Amino acid sequence: KSATIPNIDGSVNRIEEDDEDDVVDLAANSLLNKLIRQSLVESSHRVEVLQKDPSSPLYSVKTFEELRLKEELLKGIYAMGFNRPSKIQEMALPMMLAHPPQNLIAQSQSGTGKTAAFVLAMLSRVNALKLFPQCLCLAPTYELALQTGRVVERMGKFCVDVQVMYAIRGNRIPRGMDVTKQIVIGTPGTVLDWCFKRKLIDLTKIRVFVLDEADVMIDTQGFADQSIRIQRALPSECQMLLFSATFEDSVWQFAERIIPDPNVIKLRKEELTLNNIRQYYVLCGNRKDKYQALCNIYGGITIGQAIIFCQTRRNAKWLTVEMMQDGHQVSLLSGELTVDQRASIIQRFRDGKEKVLITTNVCARGIDVKQVTIVVNFDLPVNQAEEPDYETYLHRIGRTGRFGKKGLAFNMIEVDKLPLLMKIQDHFNSSIKQLDPEDMDEIE
Ligand code: ADP
Repeated sequence: KSATIPNIDGSVNRIEEDDEDDVVDLAANSLLNKLIRQSLVESSHRVEVLQKDPSSPLYSVKTFEELRLKEELLKGIYAMGFNRPSKIQEMALPMMLAHPPQNLIAQSQSGTGKTAAFVLAMLSRVNALKLFPQCLCLAPTYELALQTGRVVERMGKFCVDVQVMYAIRGNRIPRGMDVTKQIVIGTPGTVLDWCFKRKLIDLTKIRVFVLDEADVMIDTQGFADQSIRIQRALPSECQMLLFSATFEDSVWQFAERIIPDPNVIKLRKEELTLNNIRQYYVLCGNRKDKYQALCNIYGGITIGQAIIFCQTRRNAKWLTVEMMQDGHQVSLLSGELTVDQRASIIQRFRDGKEKVLITTNVCARGIDVKQVTIVVNFDLPVNQAEEPDYETYLHRIGRTGRFGKKGLAFNMIEVDKLPLLMKIQDHFNSSIKQLDPEDMDEIE
């Protein structure tokens, strides 16, 4: 498949499929966020709770001590550097650790402490002396399962007899061997296989069942049904927990099918705003002009770190090469890279090893790089109808009101794209000022 798209300078190239932007891969994004996250995401919203039994008292905890955890588990938590429960953990942990066990559906954006919460629940309910699976956690991919397993290992560092096993493709158990590990984390297909075909896991002995990343899970063909088949074989006294970063109707419908009599906990996502962002545009004739303007801006102000967005991979590559040839230290975040490579590029950028990150839309969508001070739209985000893509514009530039730093945004605009910019300005009812790239005094 190929297409012809006019270049900014009017010339026409044939472009190959590879040039089109990358497909959003929910599991990869989720993994990336986990790999690069170092601390909790703050939230100014209140946790909303919907109790299964509204008349029962609602407990919340401000300290981990209040949870009366096993000594070794508490030690593990403190060794991870946690001082107090996160917002969502304050409400979720008492429910998850209650007697008799309660089921829970919890939704909050990634980074708010869901994984730590259910790992804690698994570790606190497991009986280390019994050598068979007692906790079962379903994850959408091998890599995500591994990440959760790492948290179990860290938090359970002092729970010496508790062990984790991965039910993932390629992890072969020799015939005649039993699974003696207490916690099993795996993908639905392999878990199903281990339970029903190979009879390695006796589901009637499972005490905690966790379905993580429900939104990513239902995005994968077959995983919802497989998960439900597993869940149906669990004993009624098994605790069932479901987590999701987002809550579209489809996730909700799935959650209600798979978790009986749930409590529900929700933490709304921070809204992005353009209020604390100064937005500028520079009128340019063609791609070279845009590049020149970019260099002027770059030379004209003391830049912290910048992210530059291009509409296509091809443009992103071109710009990377240009900037490198001019001696700038830049890195290119591109969809062709593996998740690990992308994670390491973002990590280096976060650590300040690179000052400029060049990327395309989809590559950075859902990835949290909001601490940068400068965002450049080398190309305006447009949809297939060549209308402004408002959501993407907001995603690139917007910050969350209370915690976000003030920011600067520059739009490089060809003259014929000016109407699009005006639409964006009207849409957000925020002003985007014209900038003379020869005169940077305006900004500082
Ligand atoms: P989620 O599953 O919602 O994405 P995580 O449980 O992975 O969130 O937590 C996000 C980050 O915050 C991780 O680096 C984790 O170690 C850390 N974290 C989780 N709970 C706490 C806490 N109570 N105090 C400090 N850090 C925490």
